[in-house]
Amino acid sequence: MIGAWCFADHFGPTDGSTGAVMQVGLHPHIGLQTVTWLVEGDVTHRDSLGVEQWIRSGQLNLMTSGDGIAHAEESVPASPAAGAADALHGIQLWVALPDSARQGAPGFEHHAELPVDRAGGFHCTVLVGEALGARSPAQVYTPLLGVELVGAEDGGHASVPLDRTYEHGVVVLDGRLLVAGQPVEPGALAYLGYGRTELELAAEGSVRALLLGGEPFGEDILMWWNFVARSWEEIADARADWEAGASRFRTVTSELDRIPAPALHRPRPR
Ligand code: MN
Repeated sequence: MIGAWCFADHFGPTDGSTGAVMQVGLHPHIGLQTVTWLVEGDVTHRDSLGVEQWIRSGQLNLMTSGDGIAHAEESVPASPAAGAADALHGIQLWVALPDSARQGAPGFEHHAELPVDRAGGFHCTVLVGEALGARSPAQVYTPLLGVELVGAEDGGHASVPLDRTYEHGVVVLDGRLLVAGQPVEPGALAYLGYGRTELELAAEGSVRALLLGGEPFGEDILMWWNFVARSWEEIADARADWEAGASRFRTVTSELDRIPAPALHRPRPR
């Protein structure tokens, strides 16, 4: 984990030449927030609160599961009439909810406008938390930071001030970024620990990355499938509720299939 950040799913880039590129059928979540950020392409989100939200690049979808929510996600051709390629590139991150918030009501926020700024040679968008004097409107429940950094083609260099009480990490979406002198490329996550007051970033060419941070979470979590919990009993209950179609997860109007929970093989106590 990096603060409450507990999962990162970097998808694409793809030009969509193989057909539909994202079709995630109906599935449940508990104990987390999903943070969806697109670099390229369009996705629709439908959830059991009745929200249907189209998201484009440069926009943020933030879904809070509370004790139970279900949703489906599907990429949409930008121009179906023209048969345009269904290009897609983005990331979905999960944020663990603290004990004080995880039994709360589910919710959904869409932020089409987020604060932008510059740090050295990088364009910065503040997705979550506060950075460079700007604050994102996204509601989170623990001290947390998420900033997109984009370096132009001629590269970029910056010394980014950090909160030393946060631990930090960097995910590179495109290009190659020197993070405190170490090269980081797509597919890896650079973990930086806590106690730093600034971070040296340098790009040799065009680069796109996310700087993640947060106060160390301080609670042990248990992640299984789409659930973030504290015990196997909670996981088993949520799984059984999903399989039974219990009211906890409500219903969603989507043409996509419902995804059944995998078998649960909980480890034997030692
Ligand atoms: Mn999901």
